[in-house]
Amino acid sequence: MATYVMLAFKVDRRECAKTPAMAVDDLAQLRHTAAHLLAHAVVDIFGDDVKLAIGPAIENGFYYAFLKTPAFVPEDLPRIEARMKELIGEDLAMSGEPISRDAAEKHYRDRDQPFKLDILAGIPDGEPLSMYTIGAFTDLCRGGHVNSSKDVGAVKLMSIAGAYWRGDEHNPMLQRIYGTAFPEQAQLDEYLHRLEEAEKRDHRKIGRELDLFSIEEQAGPGLVFWHPNGGRIRSVIEDFVRKQLRDRGYEPVYSPHVVHEDVFLTSGHLQSFGESMFGPIDVEEQRYRLKPMNCPGHILIYKSKPRSYRDLPLLLAEFGTVYRYERSGTLHGLLRVRGLTQDDAHLFCTPDQLQGEYENTVDAALTMLRAFAFDDFRLFVSTRPTNALGDPQVWERAEAAIRNACDHAGLAYEIDEGGGAFYGPKLDIMVRDAIGREWQLSTVQVDFNLPGRFDLTYRGADGEDHQPVMIHRALLGSMERFFGVLIEHFAGAFPVWLAPVQAAVVPIGEAQFDYAEEIGARLRAADLRVAVDRSNERLQKKIAMHQAGKVPYMLVVGKSELASGEVNVRERGGSQRAMKPDEFVANVTAEIAART
Ligand SMILES: [Zn+2]
Ligand SMILES: [Zn+2]
Repeated sequence: MATYVMLAFKVDRRECAKTPAMAVDDLAQLRHTAAHLLAHAVVDIFGDDVKLAIGPAIENGFYYAFLKTPAFVPEDLPRIEARMKELIGEDLAMSGEPISRDAAEKHYRDRDQPFKLDILAGIPDGEPLSMYTIGAFTDLCRGGHVNSSKDVGAVKLMSIAGAYWRGDEHNPMLQRIYGTAFPEQAQLDEYLHRLEEAEKRDHRKIGRELDLFSIEEQAGPGLVFWHPNGGRIRSVIEDFVRKQLRDRGYEPVYSPHVVHEDVFLTSGHLQSFGESMFGPIDVEEQRYRLKPMNCPGHILIYKSKPRSYRDLPLLLAEFGTVYRYERSGTLHGLLRVRGLTQDDAHLFCTPDQLQGEYENTVDAALTMLRAFAFDDFRLFVSTRPTNALGDPQVWERAEAAIRNACDHAGLAYEIDEGGGAFYGPKLDIMVRDAIGREWQLSTVQVDFNLPGRFDLTYRGADGEDHQPVMIHRALLGSMERFFGVLIEHFAGAFPVWLAPVQAAVVPIGEAQFDYAEEIGARLRAADLRVAVDRSNERLQKKIAMHQAGKVPYMLVVGKSELASGEVNVRERGGSQRAMKPDEFVANVTAEIAART
């Protein structure tokens, strides 16, 4: 039972896939070769006194680690990069030769390169050694390069960071120079542009600027405090989801955050997932646990009375808050946290109903994601692994149900053959955000395991007891992570239906304060989220402030608006026009209804 990965455990990972333009291995070889060129350039500029360590390809680029006195400063990077570009232009061939351990050690002793000698000492005896040369620079290396410096294409040095040799604080502090490389300049430019966009959109930065949420050091890492602005958005999302669920026959349920440990023993979570669980908490000599998943609670509700086939499908939904221990080093803003609320649901149905329920669920997922302006999806179906539990025919039927549901939705899907969990096949939905990054959001997971572990049954039309099929599904994933993705997707400029303040009424002077309040009341009566700006700032400053707050509409009222009974509507990033308050309310209400 090595891989007991339950639904949505993966959902809360930061999974921002890249779209490699070439095979991953080829790109890694190109980037590792760029690391050689980096060392070449450093030696050319700063001489042989620089101590060399290692230069691997890494995700999104490469680095080379050096020890240099005085240390590198950021101003060095353009010079080094310029030298690398010269080397690339010279079309230098990369060539390798085997070398004996003695010769390699002598080579590096003669040159006083302690880290290279340390690397050599760490390579087991008998393992073949090789030296690679490109241009005037020779380096101990196992190989895996492109043929020529020219093949490195386009290169950019990004940053310098300190790192202890071998990650050990007793060792010297080296400096890593990080860079990236692509076959074509256009690909590099696109990557840099995307990086810049991603930085501007960082949800932690925008979260502070718009006062959406915080993570309070005193309370512990990975635990999210939703501020009023974030709370408004979350409650709009929750209302929207609840309406969807009601329309589709789901029943709302609530389950305790803390339950007896035995529940997780029965579910198997304690055995396979125990290290990620908070607790135990001892009460009256009994052991309790904070729930890491909502499934056992929903199962207990199912099991609370005898069920007949007439009760099925039973669709139980909960914004279920769960707690999972994640190492502090892996936490990241809202994207990876220790306390999260899933838009969770568990579907209990007969085998015959599986197909219809899957279609309904996929349809619900796409409807919801589209409402949040995601329209580029990739679907992954994970099928039966070798260690699968249960009848292969039942699996096949479930897999066919998933594929049919994708077809029904009119979407192509990719198959991860044998990549399913041992307890059932699943569907993952990835979305592409506004700057082309991919996020895994929805998961719809069939489960042939838990109904058996909890001995769930229903009385069939034949009068016999049968085991129901269970589906776990979270469509947004978790509220925290989904919010993080949304903030970055919209760069904080939420569409009007989600915006914490939909309209700011801005009187030019005190003489219009009363009129502004009247307008505010009129808008609130139409269920709009409104702020009336009674500050004594100058108009330009007020406008700048609401612009920074990314408020979709500003309603400026001055002398002439007061006289004509109108408001001057300034659309975020767009036009302005005078209109009657009622016209504005009608327009915005229609916009919200259309969820654009
Ligand atoms: Zn190499
Ligand atoms: Zn579940």
